[in-house]
Amino acid sequence: MVRIMSKSERLFEKAKRMVPGGVNSPVRAFEPYPFFTKQAKGSRLIDVDGHEYIDYCLGYGPMILGHAPAQVIQAVKNQLENGTLYGTPTENEVKLAELVCNLVPSAEMVRLTSTGAEATMSAIRVARGYTGKKKIMKFEGCYHGAYDYVLVKAGSGATTFGMPDSLGIPEETVRNTIVMPFNDPDRLEETIKEERENLAAVIIEPVIGNIGVVLPKEGFLETLRELTEANDVVLIFDEVITGFRLALGGAQEYYRVKPDMATLGKIMGGGFPMAAFVGKTEIMEKISPLGKVYQAGTFNGNPVSVVASLAILEFLRDNNESFYPEMQSKCERMVKLLTQVLGELNMKLQINSVASMFQMFFTEKPVYDYASVKKADSKRFMDFHRGLLERGVFLPPSQFETCFLSIAHSDKDIKRTVDSFRDALELTK
Ligand SMILES: *Cc1c(COP(=O)(O)O)cnc(C)c1O
Repeated sequence: MVRIMSKSERLFEKAKRMVPGGVNSPVRAFEPYPFFTKQAKGSRLIDVDGHEYIDYCLGYGPMILGHAPAQVIQAVKNQLENGTLYGTPTENEVKLAELVCNLVPSAEMVRLTSTGAEATMSAIRVARGYTGKKKIMKFEGCYHGAYDYVLVKAGSGATTFGMPDSLGIPEETVRNTIVMPFNDPDRLEETIKEERENLAAVIIEPVIGNIGVVLPKEGFLETLRELTEANDVVLIFDEVITGFRLALGGAQEYYRVKPDMATLGKIMGGGFPMAAFVGKTEIMEKISPLGKVYQAGTFNGNPVSVVASLAILEFLRDNNESFYPEMQSKCERMVKLLTQVLGELNMKLQINSVASMFQMFFTEKPVYDYASVKKADSKRFMDFHRGLLERGVFLPPSQFETCFLSIAHSDKDIKRTVDSFRDALELTK
């Protein structure tokens, strides 16, 4: 018997011969093979074999208006005719800087980059330059990009593939990175006080989105704010996921805790490569050419990403009052229905959620940090994931990622998703 391969399977086989693991970012690969997408619109992805999926990965978070949102696509089309890269400043960059400063509480000044990793890397450098100190602190399970000194217990891909540390990172590089458990205020206080002479910055995802959804316990972010302030340590909120997702002003607005600096990305680009780091004037003034901290990029503030960014952020600003409550109620409805399903099936799994992000963990115990997340059964999650795919629902392919909702997800989508969850969960019992 000749087994007929799908087009995705054939593409994956071919890709693997030239591209390491067949993918250009590790978490995209899963067993037996990932589907290859041909087209995306609203809440749906369509693969090269013509299958349609309700998408909860949404490009790992950015597509909050759904795929191919009309206002962003039109703005980009208009820009393309006028050129795509100038190497000079533009009026739109100034407009975007003004908008970001208006929307994000900690943003007094802003520098644009192309990716979230560049934003966090640059923010850390600025914090070091500003304080004249060397060490940084990060939290287990928080991901800030795939570069040397933050790639320690970094969640998502690294967690899925069991490589919290990567080969190719010199020990010396991570010697200045202190890693702390999330949600442990006592150890935090002890360590910050002990290290205050050396500690330049603390960087944190205020809600962790890179090991599934993990929420800060009440008072944790406030304690972190007080301790960093009292010990002259720069507090950086990495809001690459939470920015424009938890609220228009991000987690810092949602939790009312204002960091010294913040990083933005993902949603900010409306589906194009765009990110930023922002902060107090006093700190941001250290950046070249004004100050002595070097930061640069050919594609920083490129005209295409900037118009995409303006289109989405202006839309979110203009619809702020209805948009975020609507997103939240979609997510609450989803979580409520999923909880009912778990009850009907007599399964005790954990669901964490906030605003329009959620994840179901295959464990019976509450999940509040890296250690508790690691107790979740990722093999069972992947069986469940496969069951969902067969039913036309696509979740990010890892227990340690976050499911996102978009405004394009309809009540019907949610209903169908919940039915699919029920069927797929029954398979894993
Ligand atoms: C995705 C992500 C990054 C890295 O952004 P890239 O655009 O992939 O470089 C940094 N921080 C957080 C919290 C992220 O989720």
